[in-house]
Amino acid sequence: MKSKTRGRFCVLFKSGEIGKGGHIRNIVDAERQDTEPSPVYYKIMMVTIHAAVGISASLLFCKKVDAGPSKMKTYITTLLLNVALHGFFDFLPHSHLIPSILDIIIALLIPALFIPFVKEKYLILILICYLGSILPDVIDLGVFRVLGFGAFRIFPWHLIEVDSFLNSIYTNQFINVLFDVLAVLACFVLILSKRKDAQLMLCA
Ligand SMILES: [Zn+2]
Repeated sequence: MKSKTRGRFCVLFKSGEIGKGGHIRNIVDAERQDTEPSPVYYKIMMVTIHAAVGISASLLFCKKVDAGPSKMKTYITTLLLNVALHGFFDFLPHSHLIPSILDIIIALLIPALFIPFVKEKYLILILICYLGSILPDVIDLGVFRVLGFGAFRIFPWHLIEVDSFLNSIYTNQFINVLFDVLAVLACFVLILSKRKDAQLMLCA
């Protein structure tokens, strides 16, 4: 950017456009606006919140595991619904309040805290809910990034164009953080409203 700015500066200096009113700073600012991306407000949603949503959502499916003749059908439906839930939450305003590495560590710790207390027959269900809730990020933003796939995405809500569009409309950081808080609160409300199912899933 420096050489481009210097080049334009020389052209304008020779043409006499600068030096009259001290417009150098304005020119550099204009160059900066032309070349630098707009600030990113909402970024990707914290995987910790996705994981919390997935674990909480398992309460909605535990009775299906008990009643359904085909557990496999329940597991596949649960996986797909949790992936869709991830997409829905990615479309909402959100922020990234903690460093990514801390976010990943907490997201990994969440199931580790629950699983020792979950009855054996619900273990697959809760793991599928957890997996479905983080799978889009693991594939698109983890595996593909490590493999150097660039902007290639499987899940449409992670496409660069969608990302840019959401970044252009979610510019209020207070609202973004508020939605993060509301997402966590929604998990607590779900757990409280389904506390009998939670007791059902947990060991006595
Ligand atoms: Zn995502």
